[in-house]
Order: sequence, then C-alpha cells, then structure tokens
Amino acid sequence: MISKQEINQIADNYNPKDIKLATVCSHSALQTFFGARQEGFKTLGIAIGSIPKFYDAFPLARPDEFMVLKNYQEIIEKADELIKKNVVLIPNGSFVEYMGALNFRDKLNIPTFGNRRVLEWEADRNKQREWLEQAGVRMPAVIKKPEDISGPVIVKYFGAKGGRGFFVAKNKEDFYTSIGANPNYTMQEYILGTRYYPQFFSSPFKRENAMPTSSGSLQLLSIDRRDETNIDEMYKLGEVEKLRKHGVIPSFVVTGNVPVVLRESLLPEVFDFAEKTCSKAKDLFDGMIGPFCLEGVYTDQLKFYVFEISARIVAGTNPFISGSPYSALTFKQQMSTGRRIAEEIRYALSINKLKEVIS
Ligand code: ATP
Repeated sequence: MISKQEINQIADNYNPKDIKLATVCSHSALQTFFGARQEGFKTLGIAIGSIPKFYDAFPLARPDEFMVLKNYQEIIEKADELIKKNVVLIPNGSFVEYMGALNFRDKLNIPTFGNRRVLEWEADRNKQREWLEQAGVRMPAVIKKPEDISGPVIVKYFGAKGGRGFFVAKNKEDFYTSIGANPNYTMQEYILGTRYYPQFFSSPFKRENAMPTSSGSLQLLSIDRRDETNIDEMYKLGEVEKLRKHGVIPSFVVTGNVPVVLRESLLPEVFDFAEKTCSKAKDLFDGMIGPFCLEGVYTDQLKFYVFEISARIVAGTNPFISGSPYSALTFKQQMSTGRRIAEEIRYALSINKLKEVIS
C-alpha cells in the first residue's frame, strides 16, 4: 500500500498556487473538470487511447490539457510526470474499475483526493457488508445456498460491471436454470420497493453549511435513480418469467440516471445511515473523505435497505451539474459533486490542510 507519509512528502513539494486536478476522461469527468474550473483550478484529462472527440462539444468542461495513454496501467508509469505538474487525482468509477482497486491502492503513488484505504473495503462485497452491518445500516439478508431460497433473491457475480449477468430467482429451480458456469457469486434477498441512490459528501472538517458528525461533517448533495436495461422496460413484453423461455433474460446494466427526491419524512433515516457509515469508516480505516453513495431500496413499510456503497463520485451525480434540490438548500451557488470536490480541496488549501484530504 502507498503510505500516507509518501504522499505527504510529495505534496510538501507542491506549489499550493498551482495545483492541477486530473481524472480519466470517462464516467463523471466532464462534471469534475467543469467543477474544478468553477473553483479556479487548472485541469488535466487522462485520455485512454485518444482524446474523446465529443469533448469539443462541451468547451466549458474540456480540460486545459490532455495526457493520452495506451491503457490505465500506464498512469502508474507516468507518476513522475504527473507529480511534476502538481497533480491531485480525482478517482472516479472508471478509473478505479479499470485500473483495479488493488493497483490503485498499492502502486499509484500520486496524491489522490480521498482516503485510498477505503478501496479495499469498497471493492470486496464481504468487507463492504462487514463495514455497513457493523455501522448499523440495514442491508438485504445474505442467502448462503440455493437450498435456502424461500423468496425472490438476486444473484450477483463478482466483478460484474454495472450489474451485467445479475439475475433474480424465486426458487432453487430458477437458480439452477440461470446460474451458468461462473462459481463466483453472492446471493441476497431481493428487496421489492423503489430504488434511491443518495449522494453524500463527507468532510473531515466542520463546515458551516453541513451537519456535524463525529468524523467531521456531512452534506446530502443529490439523489438519483438509475436507468437499468433491460429490467426497467421488460414489462412491455409481457410476463417476465415467460420471456426466459425465449432467451430474454432480465439484466441490470446501467445506461443513464434520472433525478429524484425523497419524501422529507424519509430523510432522517438516510442521514442516520450515512452518519453511521462515516463513523464506522473512521474506526475501521481512518475515515472516508469526499463523495459516497448509499445505494438502496425503500420498501412499502418505509424501510431503507442498502445493497451497496460506492465510496467515490458516482455517475448518478451527473444530472446535477447545475445543482440539485438539496444543494440549492446548502450552497449559494450551483454545486455539483464534481465542484464540491474542488471546493473541498480549495478550502483545505486555504487553511493549509491539503494533506488531510489526500492520500
Ligand atoms: P455498480 O458497481 O454499477 O454499482 P454492481 O455491479 O455493484 O453495480 P449492484 O449495485 O449491487 O451491482 O446492483 C445492481 C442493481 O441490481 C441495482 O442498481 C438494483 O437495481 C439491483 N439490486 C441489487 N441488489 C438488490 C437487492 N437486494 N434487491 C433489489 N434490487 C437489487
């Protein structure tokens, strides 16, 4: 693992007036570059293969400079060059997924926003569960073996990107029909209800416009719901179960995001879960810094079940580049999660505490 001291030493040589924010051109990068620019930072886009042509259509978000690399692994080899440019990396979903959480944690010695120790807890579904359950967050029950299935379950493969190949089974026969050859899966109770993906921001600092917590402070920046194909539209073809016979299998592949809000009376519970998650993160790995998302389902009993946490900026923040109904109640200016990251770095620099928000 890259040590905090190593990163601190690199940051000691950075010119605080010339910090550049960089990320990989994918996922939520446009929002990140735009937000960084709004906060007065120069930006660098790491383009894999070639510079995305469509970035010309978004001049306000196009980074000030690009670094074109063959693949994600090459970022590690370019560390010295990036450090010379005073770069702070902003991890996003594509970055972590394609580089590999362990490579990121152990080999990428470039100052990075957030606590990189969160990656090992986020990347492993069992460790995620340990963290959230110990925190007191409600989660769907785990079903250990097909013989224990007594109601709808969702079967998730390890390393499945964006829900590809996940399936729902109602009994062990369904399970054996769909399981295929991949032995690496987990199975959990399928929670019937409405999905919400609230996006929080955890700061190690006590900020004036945030809820104080034992680990610093907390804000709710936005909530989205994902468009998932083909499960979201399958009902149009008739009874989902019968479609299996025709080779039409439900999948949960994310293609986009839509903004939603929660009933105000449901906000206390999601804030409570978020606060407990931050506090347990402090106990387990010295805290979670920056954006995170509790992905879950509200049932008709008005109980929120969290099936996953993402401990970094999620693509579900993209509908909120000009702010959200929640950020409007927190900030005087338009605030996206991308901008909030830049604002946190700007604030940390202003109080000479950059090292508290990077690792
Ligand atoms: P990503 O990494 O993109 O977040 P993933 O591969 O980790 O996705 P999950 O987020 O765990 O997968 O699940 C994908 C989708 O499956 C969810 O967005 C949701 O629609 C559905 N889902 C997952 N777990 C449950 C559950 N226990 N009950 C009901 N639906 C669920």
